[in-house]
Amino acid sequence: MTVEPALARADTMGMIDPFGRAITYLRVSVTDRCDLRCVYCMSEDMTFLPKADVLSLEELERLCVAFIRLGTNKIRITGGEPLVRRDVQTLFQRLGQRLGQGLDELTLTTNGTQLTKHAEALYAAGVRRVNVSLDTLDPARFAAITRWGKIEKVLDGIAAAKAAGLHVKVNAVALKGVNEDEIDDMLAWCGEQGHDLCLIETMPMGDIGGDRTDQYLPLSLVRGRLRQRWTLQDTSYQTGGPARYFDVQETGTRIGFITPMTHNFCESCNRVRLTCTGTLYMCLGQDDAADLRRVLRDGVSDAELDAAIRLAITRKPKGHDFVIDRRNPAPSVARHMSLTGG
Ligand code: SAM
Ligand code: SF4
Repeated sequence: MTVEPALARADTMGMIDPFGRAITYLRVSVTDRCDLRCVYCMSEDMTFLPKADVLSLEELERLCVAFIRLGTNKIRITGGEPLVRRDVQTLFQRLGQRLGQGLDELTLTTNGTQLTKHAEALYAAGVRRVNVSLDTLDPARFAAITRWGKIEKVLDGIAAAKAAGLHVKVNAVALKGVNEDEIDDMLAWCGEQGHDLCLIETMPMGDIGGDRTDQYLPLSLVRGRLRQRWTLQDTSYQTGGPARYFDVQETGTRIGFITPMTHNFCESCNRVRLTCTGTLYMCLGQDDAADLRRVLRDGVSDAELDAAIRLAITRKPKGHDFVIDRRNPAPSVARHMSLTGG
C-alpha cells in the first residue's frame, strides 16, 4: 500500500488535519486582560477570568514546546494585551531559545501601549516582527475607539520597536463610519514610517454591549477605493497568516487584507489557538475546543500530551460560519477575540 507523503509525515512528526492542512502555526493568548477596551472587541465592563484559571508561564511554555515538537514552526504571542502579563518576557526568552531548534519565528500582536518598555527585550529574545494594532491616527478617535487609550503611548511604542530593530506591521480594523475616511492617510503614514499596514474586517465575536453590524465594512470596498490613489501590485509575499498582501508602488511598503467575511480564508488555514487557560481552539470561528489544562494538570508525560494535541487536531473543522446579519446581530461566536487573540 502506498502512503501519501503528507500523511506519513503526520504519523511521525507533523500535524495534518482531516482536510490535509499542515498545522504549523500556534497563536497563544497569554492573558485575557487588557489595558484598553476597543469598542469592537469587548464591552466597557468586560469580566475577566479569575487568575486561578490561568496557566502559569511554565505551563504555557510546556504546551508551546509540545507544539514545536509536533511541527509548529511559528508562534505568535497575543492576548488580551500580552504585554500586561507580569513577567511575560520570561516566556519570550524561554521560547526564543527554541528559535532555530524547530521554531522558525516567534512573534507578537500587541496594542503597543507597553512597547517602549519591552521593545529591546523582545528583540534580544529573538523576536523580529511585531504586529501593532492601531485603528486611527487621530488622538480623539483613538480615545473613542479604545474608550480611554492615549495614542502617544502607542506611537512612542511603535517608534521604540522600530528603533530596537523590530519590523512593525500596523493592524487596523476597518470600521464603517469610524475610520474608513482615514485609511488613505494611514497607508501614507505607514509608508513614510516604513511599516506595512494590514486591514481587518470586523468579526462577530463576543458581546460588545452593542450592535456591531453597523461597524462592518467590507474590505473589497476599501480596496477598490484605495486603488483610486495607490498602485497595488500583486505579490507572492506571505507571512504564514491569513492576510492577502499587495505591494504599494508609491510607498515601497505593503498592504494586507484580512477578509474573513467577504472572502473565506479557511482553505489554507494552518493555525490553532491556545488560550491562557489552556483551551485549544482549532478554529477561530467555531466553539469546539480541547481542554489541555486538564491534561497538563493530570501530570501527563510528554508523549501523552502530544497524543492529546494530535487528537484535538483531528477535530479541526473545515472553516468558520461567521455571518453578519442585520436581523440577528448576536455574535456568531460567544467568546471574545481577546480570549483567543485573533
Ligand atoms: N491586544 C492586542 C491587540 O490589540 O493587538 C492583541 C489581541 S487583539 C484581540 C488582536 C487583534 O484582534 C487586534 O488587531 C484587534 O484589532 C483585533 N480584533 C479584536 N476584536 C476583533 C473583532 N471582533 N473583529 C476583528 N478584529 C478584532
Ligand atoms: Fe485590548 Fe486588543 Fe481587544 Fe483592543 S483589541 S480591547 S487592545 S485585546
